Amino acid sequence: MRPFTYIRPATPQEAVGAFAEAGEGARFIAGGTTLYDLMKLMIERPNYLIDVTAVQGLDRIETVGDRLRFGANAAMSAVAEDPVVGRDYPVLSEALAKAASQQLRNMATVGGNLLQRTRCMYFRNGGGGIYPCNKREAGSGCAAIGGLDRGQAVLGTSQACTAVSPGDWPVALVAMDASIELLGPAGSRSLPVGDLYRLPGDTPHLEFTLGPGEMITAITVPKTPAGRLSTYHKIRDRESYAFALTSAAVALEMSGDRVEGARIALGGVATRPWRTSEAEEVLIGHRLTPELALAAGQAAFRDARPGRHNSFKTELGARTIADALIIAAGRGRT
Ligand SMILES: Cc1cc2nc3c(=O)[nH]c(=O)nc-3n(C[C@H](O)[C@H](O)[C@H](O)COP(=O)(O)OP(=O)(O)OC[C@H]3O[C@@H](n4cnc5c(N)ncnc54)[C@H](O)[C@@H]3O)c2cc1C
Repeated sequence: MRPFTYIRPATPQEAVGAFAEAGEGARFIAGGTTLYDLMKLMIERPNYLIDVTAVQGLDRIETVGDRLRFGANAAMSAVAEDPVVGRDYPVLSEALAKAASQQLRNMATVGGNLLQRTRCMYFRNGGGGIYPCNKREAGSGCAAIGGLDRGQAVLGTSQACTAVSPGDWPVALVAMDASIELLGPAGSRSLPVGDLYRLPGDTPHLEFTLGPGEMITAITVPKTPAGRLSTYHKIRDRESYAFALTSAAVALEMSGDRVEGARIALGGVATRPWRTSEAEEVLIGHRLTPELALAAGQAAFRDARPGRHNSFKTELGARTIADALIIAAGRGRT
């Protein structure tokens, strides 16, 4: 790890001001559960760390008007265990509760979670320059394409990169049409969570649409009755402490057994949190049956482009969606 300057500002304005002054080599840090790892791997090399955890009021979980609002510093575990979130928006609490481990969830923040970087092993383990990675070093090539690609994406890939977007929480947020509140050198703005993530295209090293020095201050989710008929269904190699092979965030509006509204987003299979209108359209206006649920799942993977070892994700992903739909709809009957 390289030496760096470390500061702990007390207000968002101070934090953003310090970033602007420090320039390109600065990074915000919150729980540190992923940034410190990447620094030890020499993938991230900041010379200036701005620890935002002492910023007052940034860890609130509240309702503001017609939106839920989570301060960026709220611990993943605090949001996962909030009784109102658990009752009215199980998709949100499950996405957090099924991520990482309890210890990590106690440290990690819901803001930092949005900006974690891929777990593609060529990105993380190639620090010594053994394997090329276009994300780690622009234009160097991609060892995952044609390589060991079992964990790689099948949707949203490019000739330059197939790395999966790793987070569970962003998938649930994209399904729920959530936004982030940002503060930067030019002031504050709001951005739909879905617009935070770039497709890799031929510039996979550019992952997020944040401007330089923009800080996430909060995440907001519009209130909706669909929250109650929701779930985050995650399939992984181990039942706990593992990233998704496939996952589906689903929220439904039902009239009896007929689907009036459906929001579906996928994790573990795509290069960014993946909203699937293809699957949603199959469902609207129809009776939800196991057959229809599977047809919706299959529609989501119509354009999938598997590599050598990950074609199982199209079938598994379709079934993950189908199961999630049945689980979510079942919550209306209890
Ligand atoms: C062993 C292990 C297993 C894991 N398993 C999972 C899993 O199954 N699912 C899952 O979703 N995640 C998993 N994770 C990832 C974990 O959830 C993230 O490390 C965590 O959410 C990051 O939050 P943090 O607060 O620690 O972020 P940090 O490490 O502090 O920061 C992460 C990034 O966010 C930036 N940042 C932080 N706060 C702000 C802010 N307010 N504004 C702007 N930028 C900011 C930092 O600059 C950095 O780039 C796992 C991690 C580990 C180590």
